[in-house]
Amino acid sequence: METQKTDSFADRLTQQVGRFNVSGRTLLVPDMAPIGSRLLAASFRAFGMPAQVLPTYTHLHLGKEFSSGKECFPYQVTLGDILGFLKEEKKRLGEAFNVKNYVYFMPESDGPCRFGMYNKVQRLVLDRFPEFKDMPILYLSSADGYASTGILPSDQAKLFRRLAYVTMILADVLDRITWRVRPYEKEPGQTDAFMAKALDDMIALIEKRGRARDFSALYGLLGQIATQAKMIIDPTRPRKPRIGIVGEIYVRVHPDSNQNIIRELERFGAEVVNASLGEWVNYVAFEQYRNIQKDWRQAWQRKDVKALVDVTRAWVDSRIEMTWQDWRQNQVYQKTLEHLDIQGDYTIATVEEMLDNERLFTFDIGTEAALSIGGALEYVHDHFDGVVNVFPFTCMPGAVTSAILKPLLLKMNVPYLDASYDGAIQPNREVALRTFMYQAAQRKAARQDVASGQASPPPH
Ligand code: SF4
Repeated sequence: METQKTDSFADRLTQQVGRFNVSGRTLLVPDMAPIGSRLLAASFRAFGMPAQVLPTYTHLHLGKEFSSGKECFPYQVTLGDILGFLKEEKKRLGEAFNVKNYVYFMPESDGPCRFGMYNKVQRLVLDRFPEFKDMPILYLSSADGYASTGILPSDQAKLFRRLAYVTMILADVLDRITWRVRPYEKEPGQTDAFMAKALDDMIALIEKRGRARDFSALYGLLGQIATQAKMIIDPTRPRKPRIGIVGEIYVRVHPDSNQNIIRELERFGAEVVNASLGEWVNYVAFEQYRNIQKDWRQAWQRKDVKALVDVTRAWVDSRIEMTWQDWRQNQVYQKTLEHLDIQGDYTIATVEEMLDNERLFTFDIGTEAALSIGGALEYVHDHFDGVVNVFPFTCMPGAVTSAILKPLLLKMNVPYLDASYDGAIQPNREVALRTFMYQAAQRKAARQDVASGQASPPPH
């Protein structure tokens, strides 16, 4: 009797989680940062890959139902999003539904964190549904700087990665324009309406000019957006206390997951800046560069000439890529700063230097904790009036960040708040935010008194 062979989990991972040619299928992109995800999907479309952003947070109950409770909150949110989409799509299309028409995009990181396992564990869950098991999961990994080799022909892969990088920085800057303008708008709702139209215009331009990497056209539109956004500001309104957000990347940029913390802080009188998306990608490139330096030292000790040649080549490539990223990032920020004084972004090298000099943390430990701790210190350096650390409940780097930042910022007299999320509504959240904003307003007033000579600076 013939027995039917079932694929092992290892087989499923090799065949159904990887880098596939996605031609002819719709790429499903999770909704993380509202602007960033939409510009990324537009970049895919510019290269001929039909891509759409998944609806989000409508099926969180499914994410919770099909997880054990030990997973991170972003895992549950993204799992709920993909299961909810497929179920709704099946209902909508009926007999015409074919899961093979879709590819699910779930990147990963090659670090000590659980994010490296999301796509594998989500594969396990999708395999429990016979009607969904044939949908592959496509990933890009931090291990090779999110290279898109394998999903696009090799001559296109590098060009796509570069477009995706620039559009991510554009997304950061569009967010920063919103946060700079909205707290001072002349009419309530003006900024949101204007930025929604600006986003549509940017998406259309990326789809049209992205493949040709016509960055001048994208910068031109960005300049117009910044100029017009500035006109929304009521110049008679005094500047508000500035609050910097650091933390775990998914929850801090996904408004539903963080219960709209930016709007809530604005409601209580803040001007907010969130850490950028570019920070993570620049950090990944920086980490690769550090690893290459380590490999070079080891090859030198072994006197391994062949390895030295290979590593030197990798070192040059890595250096070129980092320089290119720096150059493009500066261009995008400069284009906006010509019209509007948004908050700039720091370089990863300065964060590392600051952490090292103060002996606060080391990049050798990895994870986003290094960025969150360093980012918070950058905010303090730039005279922000408070720092909020946003992270999923039980997030390991989030807890490390909290353990270091809380006593440190207390000593520096900078208001600090931990905001952890797992989907539950905490009844005391509003009180915590209001109290924090009261402290931030006090700090701003004290700083102004010192600046005007009415008070002396606090002792260090
Ligand atoms: S950073 Fe936090 S939430 Fe993200 S995978 Fe790691 S532990 Fe989970």
